[in-house]
Amino acid sequence: MQKQKSSHIIVPEGLTKVLLHACCAPCSSAIVEWLLAHGIEPVIYYFNPNIYPQEEYEIRKQESKRHAESLGIRWLDDDNADSPTPCYDYGHEQWREAVKGLEREPERGKRCEVCFYYRLLATAKKAQELGITWFATTLASSRWKNLEQVNAAGMRAAEAAGGQVKFWAQNWRKDGLQDRRNELLKEYNFYNQMYCGCEFASRSADHINKSTIINN
Ligand code: SF4
Repeated sequence: MQKQKSSHIIVPEGLTKVLLHACCAPCSSAIVEWLLAHGIEPVIYYFNPNIYPQEEYEIRKQESKRHAESLGIRWLDDDNADSPTPCYDYGHEQWREAVKGLEREPERGKRCEVCFYYRLLATAKKAQELGITWFATTLASSRWKNLEQVNAAGMRAAEAAGGQVKFWAQNWRKDGLQDRRNELLKEYNFYNQMYCGCEFASRSADHINKSTIINN
């Protein structure tokens, strides 16, 4: 059942807090702003072992953290960056195992489906662990991702986690959030990434141009 409606963004009944899987700071910014403006408490979960190389992972992670800290929002990740080892494990090898055999798939293909599910299953489990009923993802804000794939992965993840947590399937491109994202990107001077994340993502000039358009 659904209630509170603001144009295209519909808040499920009873939702006052959400574990928001964040792929990066730019994609989170307008969504977090919207949630706060509508009385919903976001907790940001940065779980993106798909990102390669590690330096890129670290930059995006620090930007996400900086964003959360600027707003006083709770932020968590699941890597072991605090360990004394110089090169910490953020789970990329396990992610590579999960997408094995799909390396040559195009973007928006099978590999991306697996990648979405991998990240959202971890988010669903984290929500359960934290006792937060609802989870959502900023992956559903990008025009370059297949929204149906993202939402299907979220629903499957909620089920697989045992059904005690629920996925908030939402098109976060609506209600001017895409434009607001681009404004906030400039306001915060966020790092402007040029590719989706993994080593198999297209880094062709065409793709880079598209990424520049998204992020500017
Ligand atoms: S292109 Fe992006 S969504 Fe697809 S598998 Fe790589 S990191 Fe994941």
